[in-house]
Amino acid sequence: LLSLRGVRKSFGDNVVLRSIDLDVAAGECIVLIGASGSGKSTLLRCINLLEQVDDGIITLRGQELTDPRIDADAARARIGIVFQAYNLFPHLSVLDNITLAPRRVHGVPAATAKTRALEMLDRVGLAAKAKARPDDLSGGQQQRVAIARALVNDPEVMLLDEVTSALDPELVAEVLELLRELTRDGMTMVLNTHEMSFARQVADTVCFLHDGGIHEQGPPAQVLDNPQQERTRRFLTRLH
Ligand code: ATP
Ligand code: MG
Repeated sequence: LLSLRGVRKSFGDNVVLRSIDLDVAAGECIVLIGASGSGKSTLLRCINLLEQVDDGIITLRGQELTDPRIDADAARARIGIVFQAYNLFPHLSVLDNITLAPRRVHGVPAATAKTRALEMLDRVGLAAKAKARPDDLSGGQQQRVAIARALVNDPEVMLLDEVTSALDPELVAEVLELLRELTRDGMTMVLNTHEMSFARQVADTVCFLHDGGIHEQGPPAQVLDNPQQERTRRFLTRLH
């Protein structure tokens, strides 16, 4: 579904991504792990065209996203992204947070946007909170609203950058459960996390980023429990 070939990204002299090759199958959940600064967020931002790659090719369903002639807004609409800080607008209701982009950016009629937003809120278990303000919700609930907002465009792939790291441990579980439901429903996801237990529970494939590349890749039982590479082992033992 999504493929990266030779993706390279530097900031000045700082080569963050040297050469990334990655294939994400439809319905697959890929989890990126790696030290702070290893380029996990940068990689997600490159996929979503929030950063321009220096070299390499990214394709989504055969369409080259890195083609300079592409309509970046149209491409981004096919990709949902959720960040650690939920980035909800505090002065808008939960419902308006979700309908804003469809109405303003994609020209969806208000009534349609509302119906669709309520469906998404129901999907994330927050139908009762449509009129609430973000500040009146728990962190876990706010993150679920942010996920609903990303789902409302019916994205072909979801990118999630540390979506649980701002949450108290007891709230992580509800977001985890939601992501597991999404994968069960066939959503394709690429996410990054520092929490190996989280990675273990959602990932089909874990990718360890090191030195600008994917140093080791495989099912969680292999990469997390029986890493083949010395660097991966060292990274994992340092976490304990
Ligand atoms: P963390 O686990 O701490 O979130 P990460 O793996 O997500 O780390 P990135 O945020 O992708 O790492 O950063 C990778 C490198 O790129 C870092 O050295 C960072 O300083 C640099 N970097 C990221 N964004 C920019 C930017 N907009 N301008 C300059 N340097 C940047
Ligand atoms: Mg990051």
